[in-house]
Amino acid sequence: MTKAYITTSIPYVNGNPHIGFALEIIQADVLARYYKSLSVKTFFLTGTDENAIKNAQKAQELGLDVKKMVDDYAKQFYDLKSVLNLSFDFFIRTSSPDHHLSAQKFWLLCQKDIYKKKYVGLYCSGCESFYKDGEFKDNICPNHKKPLETIEEENYFFALSRYQKQLFDIISKDKIQIEPQYRKTEILNFINQGLEDFSISRPADRAYNWGIDVPGDSSQKIYVWFDALINYVSGLGFGTESENFKTFWLDNNNKIHFIGKDIIKFHLIYWPAMLLSARLPLPNKVFVHGFLTVNRQKISKTLGNVISPYDLVYKYGTDAVRYYFLREIPTAEDGDFSWQRFNEIYKSELSNELGNLVVRVTTLAEKDSLEVEFSDKEYDFSLNGKDLSELVENFNYHQAMAEINAYIKELNKKIDTFQPWKKSSGERQKFLIDMLSHLHKLGFVLRPFLPDTAGKILKSVSGKISKAQALFPSIADNN
Ligand SMILES: [Zn+2]
Repeated sequence: MTKAYITTSIPYVNGNPHIGFALEIIQADVLARYYKSLSVKTFFLTGTDENAIKNAQKAQELGLDVKKMVDDYAKQFYDLKSVLNLSFDFFIRTSSPDHHLSAQKFWLLCQKDIYKKKYVGLYCSGCESFYKDGEFKDNICPNHKKPLETIEEENYFFALSRYQKQLFDIISKDKIQIEPQYRKTEILNFINQGLEDFSISRPADRAYNWGIDVPGDSSQKIYVWFDALINYVSGLGFGTESENFKTFWLDNNNKIHFIGKDIIKFHLIYWPAMLLSARLPLPNKVFVHGFLTVNRQKISKTLGNVISPYDLVYKYGTDAVRYYFLREIPTAEDGDFSWQRFNEIYKSELSNELGNLVVRVTTLAEKDSLEVEFSDKEYDFSLNGKDLSELVENFNYHQAMAEINAYIKELNKKIDTFQPWKKSSGERQKFLIDMLSHLHKLGFVLRPFLPDTAGKILKSVSGKISKAQALFPSIADNN
């Protein structure tokens, strides 16, 4: 692999970030950091989806200027960069003039598949999407628990039906590789039910005049999903003279989208069809993660169980939060968050195992005035002969973390069994230098997962050794 392009979905900005999005962006960050650590030329994109009608709606309800409102929320998402220690290379905001221009250029490339017609359909304003009659039980949106509304208007349509056969072929032959595999079946079933042309514009007045003008028709705004999907190329400067678009989209066979399971239809049907229409290359992989629950309950404002990644990090620190999401949540499946479980993991695996290991080894090494220098030149991404690169490249982070955890436990056990403090100085020093080299390898492997902790470990086993600071100090458990 010589290049990698990694994206997250872009969240709506009518609220603050919650831990569900934190999970996705941490997952994507691991892969980006992994490639970067192997010197693979990597571009990691995230951003915010700002042109939704419901943003304009909410701003009106609150009596705010919509641009000001999206600016404020977008900042909350951008600031996750330092809070979660993310390595993204660009943050695309779909209200930016550059994105507007890209989206309009993209629209023009699809012109042969775009036509205008009067339309009556069932619509969920929460999803900003039309649905088929009978697609949901009692025509109630399962995401928003609201009945679909009947809406009649004249819109532009995209001739999705023309691409049905081609899309079936692409998905069934893994021309876009879908992980996990069973999501592929879901998409093929959906295609087999028949693809209908979909509406890709909204009357400007219903859209509160917010969003991107349809090229040549300012009475219509581009449908927010059509414009949002284009972020994956506008973020690379599509439609400008940017080299990034050429490097990471046109000439790159390792383009990977990270998305949640609720938006697979948009990413595996609409988006590929749009790219086919525009005669642009398709993404190579789409990784679909599950949803987070809190104490096994769906996260919802009504239940009052929304957790902010800011609060979590404030209490436990960035790497503890990254660790929990990567270790405790099966990467492709639904997973649960609970403060209790978080406390348990923090204490047992981070404080007592990892933190303790580093302190024990460096304390003993300091007493012996040891001085070491290790090189990572010969390292591969493995521990104890177990290859972790495959686990990472196949989106099995939780298994990679389990291997890492087992390795840490094993090192602690080695110290318990060997009891270096009882040995002659020669034997003890030989043992400690070996342990320091294991810590160095551990630090190397931890870099994509826990970048800050990895850096601290690597630093603590370089040069003249002194007792390391506690990596995960104890925290009062009051929640
Ligand atoms: Zn909905």
